[in-house]
Amino acid sequence: MFMLKGKTALVTGSTSGIGLGIATALARQGANIMLNGFGDWQGPRQQVLEAGKAARIEVGYHGADVSRVADIEDLIASAARDFGRVDILVNNAGIQHVANVQDFPPERWDAIIAINLSSAFHTTRLALPAMQAANWGRIINIASVHGLVASAQKAAYVATKHGIIGLTKVVALENATTGVTCNAICPGWVLTPLVQKQVDAKAAAQGISNAEATRQLLGEKEPSLQFTTPEELGELAVFFCSPAANNVRGAAWNMDGGWAAQ
Ligand code: NAD
Repeated sequence: MFMLKGKTALVTGSTSGIGLGIATALARQGANIMLNGFGDWQGPRQQVLEAGKAARIEVGYHGADVSRVADIEDLIASAARDFGRVDILVNNAGIQHVANVQDFPPERWDAIIAINLSSAFHTTRLALPAMQAANWGRIINIASVHGLVASAQKAAYVATKHGIIGLTKVVALENATTGVTCNAICPGWVLTPLVQKQVDAKAAAQGISNAEATRQLLGEKEPSLQFTTPEELGELAVFFCSPAANNVRGAAWNMDGGWAAQ
């Protein structure tokens, strides 16, 4: 009745936005959830518990800063201690900084590489052995349409998102004859706090309303003129966890309103 009953999903950066949408969708399918991320986690925990209520799921939280290797080691060890093992790993935590390369603060570059890319290497290397031993696992990397194409002023972000698609392919190949799959999801614009900051900056820079800045943002890149939603991305993650996706390996699947088709 619940496709993921008995499985445990760790979703990094799941106190907000896309990560919370994915955690909620996996909970609805009966997976136990380990939440992670900054800020309020009690509200997100309630939302996820509610989604998995009928399946009587358990929801844990770990406040690891995924830019720190020691925190990630503790995160994976805690998940194993609390739930047995991580069956589904969603590498979602991510940050953005917008500036031309010559003005890009080196410390922002380092932080983006650590959070958007290196963290996925560390969670994956630590979670994989238990998945391999069970001969079942799902690793879902939240890349971006910026893993497929570039935009100006996003050097670090674009570099990490292209990088995580490369990592996805290697992990998929190394496990291709097993029950462990690894795929990437490449969203276009999703109206989360990460994008709201870019809308606000655009409105302030041009002296235009928030609504006009939003319209321009979508119009420049996303042919559908619609945001992708965390709920839609959650359902794509559920598909990757389903038996129908057993042989989907190393894919970089865009959900971007036609952005990369141009
Ligand atoms: P968001 O800002 O709403 O959420 C980011 C989450 O990551 C939060 O829970 C935050 O606490 C957590 N986080 C940030 N730094 C962290 C750290 N060092 N350690 C642990 N957790 C940390 O952002 P979002 O838009 O939901 O983005 C989620 C992912 O989706 C990111 O990887 C982002 O690049 C990707 N993405 C977003 C969009 C979009 O349009 N919003 C598009 C494509 C891809």
